[in-house]
Amino acid sequence: MKIAVSACLLGESVRFDGGHKHDRFITDELGQLAEFIPFCPEHLAFGTPRPSVRLMRQDEKIHVHSNKNGTDLTEQLCHACRNELNRLSPYPISGIIFKSKSPSCGMKSAKLYLENGMCEGKEDGLFAALCRERYPLLPMEEEGRLQDPWLRENFIMQLFAYNDFEQFKSANPSPGELVRFHTTRKFMLQSKDEKMYRALGNIVANHEHYDFEIQIALYETLYKTAIAQKSSIKRNRNVLEHMAGFLKNHLSKIEKEVLHTQFAEYAEKIVPLIVPLSTIALYAAHYQVDYLLEQTFLNPYPKTLALRSHIDAGK
Ligand code: SF4
Repeated sequence: MKIAVSACLLGESVRFDGGHKHDRFITDELGQLAEFIPFCPEHLAFGTPRPSVRLMRQDEKIHVHSNKNGTDLTEQLCHACRNELNRLSPYPISGIIFKSKSPSCGMKSAKLYLENGMCEGKEDGLFAALCRERYPLLPMEEEGRLQDPWLRENFIMQLFAYNDFEQFKSANPSPGELVRFHTTRKFMLQSKDEKMYRALGNIVANHEHYDFEIQIALYETLYKTAIAQKSSIKRNRNVLEHMAGFLKNHLSKIEKEVLHTQFAEYAEKIVPLIVPLSTIALYAAHYQVDYLLEQTFLNPYPKTLALRSHIDAGK
């Protein structure tokens, strides 16, 4: 899996002051599972070190000004942003991680100033805005927000689900394989958005008799929209109950009690999601319930990340 990342987060000394903002989660944990494509539009435009810049609203448009002498650098930075984006384009990236608060890389976190020096609010940095326009369905997040275990878990799940679909699509699947893809993602999609999951089911059923090319394009757009939704404890609990339904004819009274106690404890934030999920996986393996064992919701990304072991990964 390839992920584009702000170069300063990878420890590259490309910040305006010659420093970096090395993020250990990205390089040491995610780096075991993904290949990074670094970018830095400001280094490309102005070199390093360089005067810092700020976003400024002028004539109803967003400009970039030097903090040193107020020079308007919009043209130069826009040009570098377009070049960086074109350089990224050939790579089959499954996501982008931006440095927060940067006038180039921030996602709705870069300060936007008025000509009188007052801060008007927060905006996308120039490069982040271009990326959103070019890749509207691509998973994108800032390193700052990834400190939150809930946002981190959601983003990592989205990354892997996106990459999963890209790999599926590149293997020229048949309509039957689309049915299987959807079936094995049932609980993952339900944990994101029940309505979208059902709408995806209708696309797979194809009552309108679309050509497969159209059918899979419709599926792709909605699937990528669904995986961008944030899960919640309530939705996850609902999914756990559904999964338990596939075990009910196998489990003893005590086994059922154990499972439902764990569901309740998860809902009360006494135990993390990994606890009831591990029990479901154990029972599914013991009683050979293949439908459950094949669900990506049990293992949406490599276990080594251990993101579902945090109580705060649920909201
Ligand atoms: S935030 Fe973006 S533009 Fe600034 S140093 Fe990092 S990669 Fe470069």
